[in-house]
Amino acid sequence: MPLSRWSSRHKKTFNKKKKEKWDGNFRLPPKPDSYYVQTKGCCRWCGNTILNEDGTINTRKTWHEDCATEYLLIYSSGEQRAQLWNRDKGICNHCGKFSMGWQADHIRPLVEQKGVLEEDLDWSYYKLENLQTLCKKCHRKKTNSEVVLKGKGKVNYKKII
Ligand SMILES: [Zn+2]
Ligand SMILES: [Zn+2]
Repeated sequence: MPLSRWSSRHKKTFNKKKKEKWDGNFRLPPKPDSYYVQTKGCCRWCGNTILNEDGTINTRKTWHEDCATEYLLIYSSGEQRAQLWNRDKGICNHCGKFSMGWQADHIRPLVEQKGVLEEDLDWSYYKLENLQTLCKKCHRKKTNSEVVLKGKGKVNYKKII
């Protein structure tokens, strides 16, 4: 279940346009074809049927709850923060201290998906498991070391994390 009230507040996020060619923005990966179809009983995110507990098809829904959660984690920054807060409660994953001004950080940076073709995108980059809470100080440190390592050619994330 998404943590934010998605049905009302995310009307904009859920709007349905025609699928366009992806502009290559790795921060906003392209939505699947099923997103634009909206068949009742069929999930717009994973494309699979939505079943009731008794195994019949639920024709009133167009989203699995888990899929809506996953979808909003990518396309809604509010939901992203809500999910991270729910898991980490503002505690920095590096220094272990609570921080009011905590920041969301992708453990393996999304920039690694830059220039990747739509069919080759690695969706694990966009999941909650690849997100962590960092305090401002640790976030800055991580970002700086990423830049340094990148300059040396090979990025070694084990070292950073
Ligand atoms: Zn689904
Ligand atoms: Zn920290």
